[in-house]
Amino acid sequence: MVRLDHLSDEELHEQTKVAAEQEQVATLKLLEFLYEVQDRQLYAARGYASLHDYVIKYLKYGESQATERVNAMRFVFISAPEAKTKLEDGSLNLTTALMSERFLKKAKKLGKEIEPSQLLSQVEGKSMREVERIFVTEIPEIFDSKEKQRPVTSDLTEIRMLVCNETLELLERYKNLKGPTPTADILLELLRTHFKKIDDKKSFTCANAASRNPDSRYIPTSIRNSVAERSGGRCEYVDDKTGRRCESRMRLQFDHREPFALGGQTTPENIRHLCQTHNLYEATLMFGKETIDSIIRQKTGS
Ligand SMILES: [Zn+2]
Repeated sequence: MVRLDHLSDEELHEQTKVAAEQEQVATLKLLEFLYEVQDRQLYAARGYASLHDYVIKYLKYGESQATERVNAMRFVFISAPEAKTKLEDGSLNLTTALMSERFLKKAKKLGKEIEPSQLLSQVEGKSMREVERIFVTEIPEIFDSKEKQRPVTSDLTEIRMLVCNETLELLERYKNLKGPTPTADILLELLRTHFKKIDDKKSFTCANAASRNPDSRYIPTSIRNSVAERSGGRCEYVDDKTGRRCESRMRLQFDHREPFALGGQTTPENIRHLCQTHNLYEATLMFGKETIDSIIRQKTGS
């Protein structure tokens, strides 16, 4: 640790201020790098399912720090580029920028369009408390609105809901039958059973048509099952350079290693389990960013 006791009080004030300014500059620099990493999808190449995951596991930030940085990056470089100049000249700090970002999101949910540049000039140079006051004046109901879903980590979301007595009784009955089980697990099990029934019905009809034909794009249940068994329900993307395998178990999709469009067969060897990020990443590598972007635009109609 650097010894500071030789500094006079005045010098200490000044140098603390300089250090704070440097921290602000370094943070902005980090956001710029993160933007570029996202743009080049480098987190995916390295075997991370999201930029957030990359910031936690590769850059070693804590959960909430990572969320803050990723949100700040998106806000500053994507939704409100005018925030960048304000952060650079110090009239806005990261905390108030993030408060503005959350406020704009909530406002949008309530159907109120607020111009980011107008909001930013209002919060410029203000303290957190002053900024909160501005928000409540702008949309009083914003702090009353009941938030139903709140992401807690990249894999977990808090859902708040009201249930009727019947739901509660059925839940109790279920728990009595199966032993103490967290409600979230029950919901997952019921949903899985529900969709399995639908998928089985679908695959029964399609399997008759496809009947394990490797030249068909359709992936029969037997192949799905053996791929799922091999993957252990985890994304099978592996970074060639580091050997790192993605840890995501969310929204897994079946993907043809050698694309079906290019003659790849529907066999367990050619089918793999990929998370959404890596499915998109591999498709981008194979077909180019422009093609994939235009397909996404067509699908989302934007
Ligand atoms: Zn993945």
